[in-house]
Amino acid sequence: MTLRIATLLLSFLATALSAQERDVVITGGWLFTATGNDRIRNPGIVIRAGKFLRVGGDLSVALPNAERVALADSETVIPGMFDLHAHYAVELFGAGRKDETVAYPSLFVANGVTSTFPAGEMDPTVMRELRIRIENGGEPGPRLLNSGPYFGTARPGWDRDITAQQIYDDVDHWAELGVKGFKAKGIAPDELRALIERAHFHGLTVTGHLDSGNRNSVNPRDAILMGIDRIEHFMGGDAFTADKSAYASYERMTFDTPEFKRIAELYKRAHTNFDATLSAYGYYGKRDPDVFTYFVDEKKFLTPYMRSVIDARQPRQVNQQFENIYWTKRKEIKAFYDAGGGDLITLGTDHPSWGEFFTPFSVHRELLSLSRSGIPNAAVLRIATINGARAMGFGDRLGSIEVGKWADLVVVRGNPLADIRRTRQPRLVVKAGRVYDPDALMTSVEGKIGPASAADTAAWAPTPRGAPRPRS
Ligand SMILES: [Zn+2]
Repeated sequence: MTLRIATLLLSFLATALSAQERDVVITGGWLFTATGNDRIRNPGIVIRAGKFLRVGGDLSVALPNAERVALADSETVIPGMFDLHAHYAVELFGAGRKDETVAYPSLFVANGVTSTFPAGEMDPTVMRELRIRIENGGEPGPRLLNSGPYFGTARPGWDRDITAQQIYDDVDHWAELGVKGFKAKGIAPDELRALIERAHFHGLTVTGHLDSGNRNSVNPRDAILMGIDRIEHFMGGDAFTADKSAYASYERMTFDTPEFKRIAELYKRAHTNFDATLSAYGYYGKRDPDVFTYFVDEKKFLTPYMRSVIDARQPRQVNQQFENIYWTKRKEIKAFYDAGGGDLITLGTDHPSWGEFFTPFSVHRELLSLSRSGIPNAAVLRIATINGARAMGFGDRLGSIEVGKWADLVVVRGNPLADIRRTRQPRLVVKAGRVYDPDALMTSVEGKIGPASAADTAAWAPTPRGAPRPRS
């Protein structure tokens, strides 16, 4: 190589290194580390090379060119949040879901969500490419813990005659492509057993949207006995009888029962996580007016054309069963918390937006639903942070503010322990030591969701059921 190129390369490397090496120092305000229940005076935080170097102690170790952030006395630092059922999918035309990769990544970060598990991707290839662009610093976005395609009939073209070997091969394929966990939906017992076995072989987790056990489905109880890592939506157990669908049993279920006691004990014994996804059911139901409010004008993220289409739409139909389940779920999650399951609960939003109440903002709706269920706010914040990190196998690197962990944090305006709604509209967000301005992120994606004109709508038709068939 010529001297000139070598010199250029060296100076490029030096610049990259110094950019990366620029420390961040955060002083003032309050700190909720998620290692306990308390908010303390922020003892000072030094971030170096994407990790927490100091939390308290000698802050003078910070390099002279450090980026310094002074917090107001009203502000609180919390760890970056996790959404473990973070569909990027929108369903703008009622014709199927499509992964939204333009605005959602920025909107997640702007809402304080620094890690997402999509829990079943419509187009795993597009989502993998998005992860790579985010990781390379090409665009802002959370840590995208890819899930790959669904395993089960939720994947278009899923073959009910699939063999265990075909499932192994398919898991190997997606593991090689960097997914961080798998999601089963509409899966049969033998298929789930093979999925769990092979995912664990790769050190990856499995979660499932399951059923009662009717029609060759799997009751969460039986999945836990197979070794599944997490359960979505409902806890399952003997109260979900196999003679009817899970939702039919769930609608008016009560939890002061021996059946509930048994299933709660099983979760604790097996250390299985439960992703409650409360607000998803509220979204399909009557939209509890306490939870479904706008704190940002979310429709401004639609293109003007898309907004006009949505504003002209007839009012949607309320799903009364989901409305009933929403209120039932609030009792269930509190009962599980009271039964000692607090460390096992995770946060998941799980709803494809029809053009309102976008998923990244719904993280705050889920936090409020959990809080309104009667779970103390400190526990709600741990659910959104350290519990999510542990559930995905990242508990040693993420989820709390501790020396040596990756530096993901959110500065919120106020005390979320007193009012969980203070997590909304954070002042700033740090991911891997990089500081983001939520307002700037939001501005950058205004008018971006949906087609720009009627002529463009074909591009926003649902992905042609993009998930490839299981490999054979
Ligand atoms: Zn889902």
